Amino acid sequence: MNCRFCTTELNDVFIDLGNAPASNSFLAKEALNEPETFYPLKVHTCPNCFLVQVDEYKKSDAIFDSNYVYFSSYSTSWLAHARAYVEKMQERFRYTTDSLVVEIASNDGYLLQYFKERNIPVLGVEPTANTAAAAAEKGVPSVVDFFGVRLARQLAAEGKKADLLLGNNVLAHVPDIVDFVGGMKILLKEQGVITMEFPHLMQLVDNNQFDTIYHEHFSYLSFHTVKQIFEAAGLELFDVEELTTHGGSLRIYAKHKEDPTRPVGPQVAALLQKEKEKGMLEMPYYSNFQGKAFAIKKQLLQFLLDQQKAGKTVAAYGAAAKGNTLLNYCGVKNDLIGFVVDANPYKQDKYLPASHIPVVNEDQLKTAKPDFVLILPWNLKEEIMKQLAYIKDWNGQFVTAIPSLQTT
Ligand SMILES: [Zn+2]
Repeated sequence: MNCRFCTTELNDVFIDLGNAPASNSFLAKEALNEPETFYPLKVHTCPNCFLVQVDEYKKSDAIFDSNYVYFSSYSTSWLAHARAYVEKMQERFRYTTDSLVVEIASNDGYLLQYFKERNIPVLGVEPTANTAAAAAEKGVPSVVDFFGVRLARQLAAEGKKADLLLGNNVLAHVPDIVDFVGGMKILLKEQGVITMEFPHLMQLVDNNQFDTIYHEHFSYLSFHTVKQIFEAAGLELFDVEELTTHGGSLRIYAKHKEDPTRPVGPQVAALLQKEKEKGMLEMPYYSNFQGKAFAIKKQLLQFLLDQQKAGKTVAAYGAAAKGNTLLNYCGVKNDLIGFVVDANPYKQDKYLPASHIPVVNEDQLKTAKPDFVLILPWNLKEEIMKQLAYIKDWNGQFVTAIPSLQTT
């Protein structure tokens, strides 16, 4: 396999999580009698550009099929994040009724709805038809398609170039990052701005976030590497912010290299320096990650076995993709965790892939009163602990496995 960006041959393994099913392939009851398809989940580091990348085992149109069940609007903290972003962009760039805001991977219109509220024209690009349909109900129009050079040319020809082109948690999900960034170059107006948010590889390594690795996630990105990829497409990064979302993300700001109207801010050089000081421009930084993941596996299994022995019950909360990576890598099945609660009705009454843990609604938690609730989406820990504070009524405790096992 060669690097998706610089084509260097890849021989350095960042982490090998064994074989796992596609993390969003929730199973209906009938499907429990069928065989399941597992794909290797092995991630490499490019020794030249430091792009950390997973092999492409499954075509992305098979992963993002109509059964895809992630609706952004089910997370209240994510909605608040989207609203705050829109306020910030309006304050800084002042879009009007003559502007066009385009979001790639616009999902159910969770973010564009706030631009629409201000009468700013919006367009979503979203490959999953059922989330795009939910966006239409909010009055957010979407093109149901995958983004890249082909679609960008088509939209540009239709006069749909963007003043603001944004994408949150999509850059890491695209199989062909070079084609994707090339498409953004085409769709951006002369003085337009691109913002992208993606989990920062530095946080993944420093905080043992190996569970954010799954097949739908093709790249794990440092600022250094993203800057190189954007520059190769004729785009320049002029600002960057470090965010707390998804365990630590970056929000980058890009413009055409030819656009002189926006000077490059001091945050750009500062973050490049920070990454360099961390060692992210040298291979040893990437080579001890496997051991960190194995340490968490041992902690979680020990905890679950101890509770089993003591006659205590453990349930989980949040049937997110990262939970599936964690449970499958650790080899946890439905005999150690009885059920997982999720607020999304599209996931309820289904089963997690491989572990076959049933997904239920919150009522089940109140009836079963488990001794421990393992919070799988640890990035939403505060929100979930507040929402489920009532488990303290029966002396229930919260557990998180990442960055290390913790009970609260
Ligand atoms: Zn490379």
